[in-house]
Amino acid sequence: MAEPAAPATSSASKPLSAPQKALHKLGLKRDIDLALHLPLRYEDETRIVQLRDVRNGELVQIEGTVTHSEVQYRGRRQLLVTLDDGTDTCTLRFFSFYPSHQKTLAVGAVVRARGEIRGGFAGYTLLHPAFKLAGGELPTALTPVYPTSAQLPQAYLRKAVVGALKRADLHETLPPPLLAGLQRTARVSPTLREALQVLHHPGPEASLAALEDRSHPAWQRLKAEELLAQQLSQALAKRERDALNAPQLPLRRGGLHEQLLATLPFALTAAQRRVGEEIALDLARRVPMHRLLQGDVGSGKTVVAALAATIAIDAGWQCALMAPTEILAAQHFRKLVGWLEPLLEPLGKRVAWLTGGQKKKQRQAMLDLIASGEAALVVGTHAVIQDQVVFQRLALALIDEQHRFGVAQRLALRGKTGGTLEPHLLMMTATPIPRTLAMSYYADLDVSTIDELPPGRTPIVTKVVSDQRRAEVVERIRSQLDQGRQVYWVCPLIEESEALDLSNATATHAELSQALPGVLVGLLHSRMPPPEKKAVMSLFVGGQMGVLVSTTVIEVGVDVPNASLMVIEHAERFGLSQLHQLRGRVGRGAAASACVLLYSAPEGGRLGETARERLRAMAETHDGFEIARRDLEIRGPGEFLGARQSGAPLLRFADLATDTHLLAWAREAAPLMLERHPALAEQHIARWLGSKAEYLKA
Ligand code: ADP
Ligand code: MG
Repeated sequence: MAEPAAPATSSASKPLSAPQKALHKLGLKRDIDLALHLPLRYEDETRIVQLRDVRNGELVQIEGTVTHSEVQYRGRRQLLVTLDDGTDTCTLRFFSFYPSHQKTLAVGAVVRARGEIRGGFAGYTLLHPAFKLAGGELPTALTPVYPTSAQLPQAYLRKAVVGALKRADLHETLPPPLLAGLQRTARVSPTLREALQVLHHPGPEASLAALEDRSHPAWQRLKAEELLAQQLSQALAKRERDALNAPQLPLRRGGLHEQLLATLPFALTAAQRRVGEEIALDLARRVPMHRLLQGDVGSGKTVVAALAATIAIDAGWQCALMAPTEILAAQHFRKLVGWLEPLLEPLGKRVAWLTGGQKKKQRQAMLDLIASGEAALVVGTHAVIQDQVVFQRLALALIDEQHRFGVAQRLALRGKTGGTLEPHLLMMTATPIPRTLAMSYYADLDVSTIDELPPGRTPIVTKVVSDQRRAEVVERIRSQLDQGRQVYWVCPLIEESEALDLSNATATHAELSQALPGVLVGLLHSRMPPPEKKAVMSLFVGGQMGVLVSTTVIEVGVDVPNASLMVIEHAERFGLSQLHQLRGRVGRGAAASACVLLYSAPEGGRLGETARERLRAMAETHDGFEIARRDLEIRGPGEFLGARQSGAPLLRFADLATDTHLLAWAREAAPLMLERHPALAEQHIARWLGSKAEYLKA
């Protein structure tokens, strides 16, 4: 193979070769990127074993003389080569081969072959082994196997890494006191260079087990450095934000805030009052708020958001509330109009409504209200952040179900104050962030938690039921309807295919319509035009519709207190947090409520143990935090966060479940390093995150 020509340096003049392009595609642009591209596993080519010592299934390297070679046609054309190492013989079998293979493996040649050995009555076999002529010294280090792509051969990547390791700037970025602290926390390699040397080319004495479970000091060093880079970049992002100015919005006595509290049909829970105060303190400051409001489904986040809005309006500013779906936005709109318009009217102010499906004229009227400042509050979907939307003076942006919005969208909201100031940002979520994630990915976010449900809610009884007992479930629906209650039936996502979702939901809708004569059964899915969705929703909200069959469009936030039964079909296909959110659609009134998790085993089989365990967990716990924790355990942070959406570069090496000691160190080290060694901090971030650091600023 041709020598790779300095693969990691960017040669502006020469066009990139195919493997170089493949390297870039994997994000391996700089020498340091390659140096930090670590092996998935290793192959042991340091030893040759004798055939009499091998065991069936072992990965082995053997060396022997070819005693026989022939092409046979046993069903398929194949090359069979017999190798004799003096202790036994082994057949090398190839189904695809070239004349060059036959030439190398000619009778009399001394050959090294490597692969997974199979032993049976017919003797040992290696299927498609790697092989080469014997001779030359055995490598002294394990051979690394790197994550790669089809266009990038392992051998090329290996050479590229060797070269990059030599060239890369690996100077120490950890100041001595912090390094000493790390060494007290964990057994770590003394330098990054040494750690990388071990991880890329471990000597035969290295513990494979420690390398594999990543407890090896070299791994500990890498993970600690990675976590430090993450903490540093978050701390920097926070610093940059803290240097910006936002409108100061002090709580005013006798204003809308007090009036809203006085007119609400309920008293706030202690938790709502507490988070309300946290938010009010932020709003009164000159630094833009960057706060996440988390609270279980039904914990009453909306009213907290409304109260925050009144503070901004009292101070003479505008507010925007953005929700991910039109249904949810519409529901917020209704609620906020109900609460706020009577109070806003005497002030000559209004609540505006913006959505993609709006008629042009209506939309223009809304845009005018927003531009003139007459709209004190704007509620809507993504439409709220489009370019044509010009606020007179936006001070506060409220984002519901923040994980459904991307970084760019959040940034767009920030550009809308109508001046040089930044708006305050309050994000809401019903999927609580487990502590370790809050400490790492969201380290720069202030978090308020509503940890209490409003009184008078009856707990939801959750049942896990096989799909074969569908008829009983329909009976149950009938009895709920007879008591004047309403029912949700949710159909699953089938591999993200909307078309299949739809056919499934349509079939269920037909089935239930037939089984429940005289009952209005509605159907709601994401492909419906907005006016139709709205019509169906308003029939269900109004109580005329008994059963609502839907795909997951109702996932977030819909509030119909009279609904007392939630049936989730193919519950085994949903994530735990998603199930929890869906379940939270019922149990919002005083009536006893239930959630039926219907599962169906794969054809002819039983539901897998993990799937059953997950559903059981759902039945056992109603604590959203506990569920989020288990969900994280099962799915890992990547899926949990929705990496692409959050934009947070995921940790490649550190594992938040096992590396809490390193995370704790990094959290303490980061602010100290920024304070006392800002240049080193910057070098450390650049080394680890390169261009990805930008993402963290949102
Ligand atoms: P979520 O946190 O899931 O967004 P909502 O804000 O939709 O929850 O609130 C759920 C329901 O509880 C709504 O009908 C809301 O009006 C009601 N609610 C909110 N706070 C209280 C409270 N303190 N007492 C009684 N009901 C409340
Ligand atoms: Mg909500």
